[in-house]
Amino acid sequence: MIIHNLISFIRSEYDTPDFIPLHVPRFSAAETRRVMETLEAEFVSSVGIHVREFEERIEAYTGSAHAIGVVNGTAALHTCLRLAGVEPGDEVITQSLTFVATCNAIRYQFAHPVFVDVERGTLGMCPAALSAFLAEHAIREDTGLCRNKSTGKLIRACVPMHSFGHPVRLDEIAAVCEEYGITLIEDAAESLGSFYKGRHTGNTGRLSALSFNGNKIITTGGGGMVLTNDETLAQRAKHLTTTAKKPHPYLYDHDEVGYNYRLPALNAALGCGQMEALPGFVEEKRQRAARYAAWFAGQDREFILEPENCASNYWLNAFVCKDLTERDRVLQETNAKGVMTRPIWTPMHKLPMFRDCQRGPLNMTEWLSEGVVNIPSSCKTANPR
Ligand SMILES: *Cc1c(COP(=O)(O)O)cnc(C)c1O
Repeated sequence: MIIHNLISFIRSEYDTPDFIPLHVPRFSAAETRRVMETLEAEFVSSVGIHVREFEERIEAYTGSAHAIGVVNGTAALHTCLRLAGVEPGDEVITQSLTFVATCNAIRYQFAHPVFVDVERGTLGMCPAALSAFLAEHAIREDTGLCRNKSTGKLIRACVPMHSFGHPVRLDEIAAVCEEYGITLIEDAAESLGSFYKGRHTGNTGRLSALSFNGNKIITTGGGGMVLTNDETLAQRAKHLTTTAKKPHPYLYDHDEVGYNYRLPALNAALGCGQMEALPGFVEEKRQRAARYAAWFAGQDREFILEPENCASNYWLNAFVCKDLTERDRVLQETNAKGVMTRPIWTPMHKLPMFRDCQRGPLNMTEWLSEGVVNIPSSCKTANPR
């Protein structure tokens, strides 16, 4: 692959001689209006209609019965884990090839991440690897709980992540979790706008987490959401993330140690405006991905396509380099020429704080981590309004 041609292609795609970032947000008059409304009403933090409105918009779009706004995606994940009953000393199975927040949230609950491999087709958790790990290490006890025979600890939850918006094979993963009595939680931080067999990601797990960080498909500056179809869990999520305050007109009455994980109204206002733009963002991203795919097909390099039976949001576009040498050349030359590219994350089992975590074979994780490069994926325009 001639890197100079890649740079020219990306420049023609974005039609600019200037610096091309990997992913930047786009705002329109809709967001300005919403944020100004909040400022004028002087309810910028926890009170105000925008939080509930934003939650309702996410519920309507994702088809999830309940959405609970929180301060960021990591807090959403932490809340999901806590509500799934993950306790200190438990284990949580996840993928090593993920953004560090997935594993940080597990550690916030004083639980231990356990890594299984990802698959090439989705870049996310491999159902066969999950199944093989559990067959070797786990037993389902008479209580219905799943115990790791090697460590003696309970495996309480499983957290697959939809990398760059591409859905993992949810049905297969859910079936394995069901068999072993493990709660499924989706890290859907990157997959707002992505559908698996016609249903929005975040609806298969008992609980799921979304992120609206500045680099995601829509942003509230910082923000996140817990999704669930279980009403009791939804109420627990709201309670726990709002300092566990019992409803009362004026008393400060709290019934457990809660968190201040509230999404401020100012951020929610931004989110309401961004939700109007989301369908357009997804459409534009899918069209750009199709053009990238066609170009890479001519270069004999694999462009990461949406998995079968899925409609991906193509949040971040990615392709696979021939080897580590080519990857390093791509990163070096594109970034030097003002076209921003990034390698995929350093796998979690290579980071000092997760190096000692138990893991199954991670061959695909290792291979992808040396070859995958993200290329510019921003939308060009905001809502024309
Ligand atoms: C962005 C992201 C998060 C965390 O979201 P924040 O809002 O930044 O806390 C978690 N998991 C994955 C996979 C992400 O990409």
